[in-house]
Amino acid sequence: CGIVGFVGQGNTKDILLAGLSRLEYRGYDSAGIALYSQPFTLVKAVGKLEELKKKVAADKECQLPYSMGIGHTRWATHGKASEKNAHPHLSMHKEVVLVHNGIIENFAELKNFLQEQGYSFYSDTDTEVAVNLIEYYYRKDKDILKALFSVQKELKGSYAFAIMFQEDEKTLYAMRKDSPLIVGKGENAFYLASDVSAFLDYTKEIYPVENREILSLSEKEIHIYNKNAEEVHRSSAIAELDQ
Ligand code: GLU
Repeated sequence: CGIVGFVGQGNTKDILLAGLSRLEYRGYDSAGIALYSQPFTLVKAVGKLEELKKKVAADKECQLPYSMGIGHTRWATHGKASEKNAHPHLSMHKEVVLVHNGIIENFAELKNFLQEQGYSFYSDTDTEVAVNLIEYYYRKDKDILKALFSVQKELKGSYAFAIMFQEDEKTLYAMRKDSPLIVGKGENAFYLASDVSAFLDYTKEIYPVENREILSLSEKEIHIYNKNAEEVHRSSAIAELDQ
């Protein structure tokens, strides 16, 4: 299981697919990508990455230029390996889309809460609960970062999320707790992945991400916030390679 993200100048679709190939060694049963467009463009497939690549190659929408996207290889924990359970997952009002590694332990009670608020669900995953909780707070708070901090307080378990909001075409958001996540800085671009190997072909300049941090990335800027919503200033490092 692995997540990737990209924002900036570059061939988003190819960068995401190449990153997912690099993460194949982690194991997976299905895969998918979401590209920022209005509405979001989503492609998912069960089985080998080759199946996803075929679908993407056959999809006219996917051949357009995109400057932001996220991708996922799934190792099912909640809900069988199927196309509807594959990530990325989209919120009910289609305002938020995300990929997730990890397990949301309190997903059942959060799902009940959201159902009481009128939310319905198309998959069996814990992840779909997280994306709808983000949308719920986003519609309530009318502020993306504020919503992410609210959600961070509610979620129990482990997660690395790469998140896009329909309202914000230039910014990729991410957050993590007990699942790995690392940022790469390119030229007019930022990369996001569970493992540095996903983007080493493009850059070796990295920013480690600590537990309970929330990030926003755009073509030229990275902002990192700690769990108290204070901005953290961090210098980049050069990835040390084993080979
Ligand atoms: N718990 C999530 C699911 O079952 C994410 C699994 C993963 O880390 O790939 O969909």
